[in-house]
Amino acid sequence: MTNKPNKPINLFDVQASQKIIGQENFLNAFQTILNHGGYAQGPETKELDTALANYSGSKYCSTCGSGTDALTLALMAWDVKQGDAVFVSSFTFVASAECAAIVGATPVFVDSKPDTYTMDPADLQRAIDEVKKEGKLTPKVVIPVDIFGSPCEYDEIIKIAHENGMKVLSDAAQSYGSVYHGTRAGNITDMTATSFYPTKPLACYGDGGAVFSNTNEENEMVKSCRVHGMSPEDHYDNVRLGMTGRMNTFQAAVVLQKLKVFDQELKDRYTIAKRYDNELSPYFRKQRILDNCQSAYALYTINCDDRDELMAYLKENGIPCGAYYPRPVHTQTAYAKWNTRKLPVCKILSKTVLSIPMHPYLDSDVQDYIIETMNKFAENKMNKAA
Ligand SMILES: *Cc1c(COP(=O)(O)O)cnc(C)c1O
Repeated sequence: MTNKPNKPINLFDVQASQKIIGQENFLNAFQTILNHGGYAQGPETKELDTALANYSGSKYCSTCGSGTDALTLALMAWDVKQGDAVFVSSFTFVASAECAAIVGATPVFVDSKPDTYTMDPADLQRAIDEVKKEGKLTPKVVIPVDIFGSPCEYDEIIKIAHENGMKVLSDAAQSYGSVYHGTRAGNITDMTATSFYPTKPLACYGDGGAVFSNTNEENEMVKSCRVHGMSPEDHYDNVRLGMTGRMNTFQAAVVLQKLKVFDQELKDRYTIAKRYDNELSPYFRKQRILDNCQSAYALYTINCDDRDELMAYLKENGIPCGAYYPRPVHTQTAYAKWNTRKLPVCKILSKTVLSIPMHPYLDSDVQDYIIETMNKFAENKMNKAA
């Protein structure tokens, strides 16, 4: 048994890449912004728009204040409003559904699959049929979430959505850098939202986000809604409702620096995930990544029946971990009135999932220790059961 390495073990590491990129590069970039004075949606944000559109292969990218803003701006751009149904996973971070409620639409929750943890296309079809049969809401948008960085079943979801006259907004807050059948996140669905919150795969040092689209019309709408629905012709005429959704220029400068090491970081996350996949006991059920796809591994999340016991055991052994997410969105207080469907898989996942340390700077001796410590737990459990 390997002893606990004599260094802190982190679930995420939001600082380590500073050493590799060089703090002086961040400081120089900040100095440039201090001098030019364009602090909100300044020149660096436009540089980032271009860099991210190129990286994703999408025509347009518009940076904004956060991932939640990005989701909300996309819905505003499509004029989603009261009376519209927005179909969304419940096994996710609250913002995936919050955006629908913010614009006055009705979030309709869809169950997840037990192995991929992503939206179940069969349940999506059922939910749409139910809404149509009831005849009160107009089905408008599907928001599939690449949970923990892993791409959803997009072929199936896009087909169902488009057949029903709906748009697809990918919530790629955790999956920037992921690949679905050769296409990168940002260019898979009608529009995509991502987040640069510090614990996401591509991150800034505060809040930030971006909306990806492939039509000029959608992108112009996003840009207008980002500044209170301003008319591009007359800046004193606000022609629709919007928000304060601009990106802080300092955060754009951070993302531009982080992009330099992003591909290497994705590779390193992938290598660690493969070790976990191969070396962790089969007692822990691994998240299934779809064939021909690559996760961005924002989190590495297993599930097992003794989740709470495992969590206590790992913490006792100095291994940080977290239950993402212990409470499906449809069961949370503010969402009670939209708790209208049975989501049995989602309910089980919330009780069985556990995310273990995953970041590109997780040393191999720390990986050894995590794997051995977890496997000891599994062995005890399996011996008892035998
Ligand atoms: C983080 C996250 C968001 C929201 O991003 P913020 O930048 O924190 O607003 C939305 N959806 C998912 C799935 C997320 O993980």
